[in-house]
Amino acid sequence: MPSDLVPTSPVLVFGGSRGMGAAIVRRLAAEGRPVAFTYASSDATAQTIVAEIESAGGKALAMRADSADASAVAAAVDQATGRFGPLGVLVVNAGVLMGGPIDSFALEDFDHMLAVNVRGVFLAIHYAAPHLLDGGRIITIGSNTAERIGSPGSSVYAMTKAAVAQLVRGAALDFAPRAITVNNIQPGPIETDMTAGLMDQIRPRLPLGRIGKPEEIGGLVSWLTGPDAGYMTGASLTIDGGWTA
Ligand code: NDP
Repeated sequence: MPSDLVPTSPVLVFGGSRGMGAAIVRRLAAEGRPVAFTYASSDATAQTIVAEIESAGGKALAMRADSADASAVAAAVDQATGRFGPLGVLVVNAGVLMGGPIDSFALEDFDHMLAVNVRGVFLAIHYAAPHLLDGGRIITIGSNTAERIGSPGSSVYAMTKAAVAQLVRGAALDFAPRAITVNNIQPGPIETDMTAGLMDQIRPRLPLGRIGKPEEIGGLVSWLTGPDAGYMTGASLTIDGGWTA
């Protein structure tokens, strides 16, 4: 059964220096996997995570690579697999949030959000898939805004995350012959830099009455890498404190 390759096989996380990505990196490294991760600009933060993992006896590699840059994404895949070998798990977390109503939304922001949140996800899967072990796992981080937008000014962001959900469905079919599963996590409000400043207005609207923690996303990623998740593919899993309920 190919999934016996999964428990200790290497991981590549796109966007692993902060927020949920950092929680995912820490969780999978703590479970004994070598973890390579990319980031856009947080050199010092990324190196701190590497040092933390290595001092605990783990293996980690941080790579500065803009998800909007195809050659940087390809180079990151080469560097990660060159260091740790074929991948068991690919996590595509890197994403950006810019808001505003359509009539005043800056075209540069539109292009950048599509470049990172949609094209960047495609690029990561495109370049990493040939290096994934049969039975491996691909996990994307979408958003519950793909299901319900909820607030004005979020149309473009929500559109990018809806695109990810549909890309995942198609990718699940493409990689099923290799027993590679492809699933999409759709968080609701999670305490990270991305949402700092928004939480006081969001909290009262959350049925569970609290904001999610990055570690809770790390836990769901961990489950998706394990044997109990082997029959799930093409799914979008919403984890949002009941926001879309
Ligand atoms: P943060 O802004 O806290 O962290 C984003 C991470 O992605 C950082 O590691 C950042 O690197 C990296 N990144 C951003 N842009 C690029 C890029 N162009 N190339 C490479 N890496 C990049 O985000 P969150 O942890 O909050 O969000 C993570 C994912 O979850 C995103 O896809 C987001 O859309 C999604 N999400 C977030 C929610 C929330 O409430 N926080 C809710 C639903 C979905 P660097 O440190 O170098 O900037």
